[in-house]
Amino acid sequence: NTPLHELDPDVAAALDAELHRQQSTLEMIASENFAPVAVMEAQGSVLTNKYAEGYPGRRYYGGCEHVDVVERIAIERVKELFGAEHANVQPHSGAQANAAAMFALLQPGDTIMGLSLAHGGHLTHGMKINFSGKLYDVVPYHVGDDGLVDMAEVERLAKETRPKLIVAGWSAYPRQLDFAAFRRIADEVGAYLMVDMAHFAGLVAAGLHPNPVPHAHVVTTTTHKTLGGPRGGVILSTADLAKKINSAVFPGQQGGPLEHVIAAKAVAFKVAASEEFRDRQRRTVEGARILAERLVRDDVRAVGVDVLSGGTDVHLVLVDLRRSELDGQQAEDRLHEIGITVNRNAVPNDPRPPMVTSGLRIGTPALATRGFGAEDFAEVADVIAEALKPSYDAAALRARVTALADRHPLYPGLKK
Ligand code: PLP
Repeated sequence: NTPLHELDPDVAAALDAELHRQQSTLEMIASENFAPVAVMEAQGSVLTNKYAEGYPGRRYYGGCEHVDVVERIAIERVKELFGAEHANVQPHSGAQANAAAMFALLQPGDTIMGLSLAHGGHLTHGMKINFSGKLYDVVPYHVGDDGLVDMAEVERLAKETRPKLIVAGWSAYPRQLDFAAFRRIADEVGAYLMVDMAHFAGLVAAGLHPNPVPHAHVVTTTTHKTLGGPRGGVILSTADLAKKINSAVFPGQQGGPLEHVIAAKAVAFKVAASEEFRDRQRRTVEGARILAERLVRDDVRAVGVDVLSGGTDVHLVLVDLRRSELDGQQAEDRLHEIGITVNRNAVPNDPRPPMVTSGLRIGTPALATRGFGAEDFAEVADVIAEALKPSYDAAALRARVTALADRHPLYPGLKK
């Protein structure tokens, strides 16, 4: 028994059950991943005890000599990984990173543009009851009928409304954005370009996706999605914005940084520079492509299942259920029943309400981290396709899921 089991068996039991859930099911939530044990070790370390308001070398507390080392390592590694001039590794999350970046560059009431939430944007890109929608005047842009961001609309809206900031980035979009085109439009109207690469940062680090850093004034990311690190955020920027960004994070938005999480970020950045990581990202993208290919087959289309934009260039597939009898909620539940975890997701112009939706977002990063390769992803795709058909055999599909999970054990060193 561990100290946690001794002190608090109730919480320990829930943690054990969660480990078992992660080990025995297939995690396909596109924003999730499995952090290496070394990352969890850093995150669960004595650094959780330390106050360190300020920045390395300029702290408001004593005893920061060791957390300074850790934070400097994290900063240097992430700058190197993405080729950025400046990095702030203190944001507690992706939402905090976006709040701080906007706080640095904008005044309340300024106009911003972002991809509409209903078309794949994030809450922090201007959703009405998020801070971004309350503090700023939001002009949303959209995807067109082909499922791609409508750059002509972006340009037209930018010229009409002269935003101070344009956000390029997404939470549910299966293609790559044209960062150079966004920057050209931003320059034409005198706006800052902020790219939120939270979802695809791991692909960028592996060289499998265009890097937004050379094009954007500011780039924000989470560290726990494709990047595969601890839950947290990072802001990258040009050198001239460094002071503004740093003071917007602290003291603008946050108090003491989570140095234990920053240590875990540093470890994750080291991993992200490795050949093993590049191989994992290659399998991530290949897995999503295989999934999309197998979900556009005739027998699947016949039951009303479509793939938004017809495929994917990234780590996720958006399944469009507008023609299907199954709604997003029912499809999510059905996959849950056979041991595959995904999330329902609104599709553009969704006829069903937001709590139900007509779509699924299915991602491959976590399974790639588990070691899944092309053959495994083909089997996963076929299991999902069968599960979305009206006559499906839940027990048989669950057995196929279990076989896949057993083939690639997760955290084998941790207790079951
Ligand atoms: N930005 C994007 C594009 C996201 O998809 C998300 C999370 O889903 C966030 C920011 C927010 O990250 P967090 O949940 O860490 O606040």
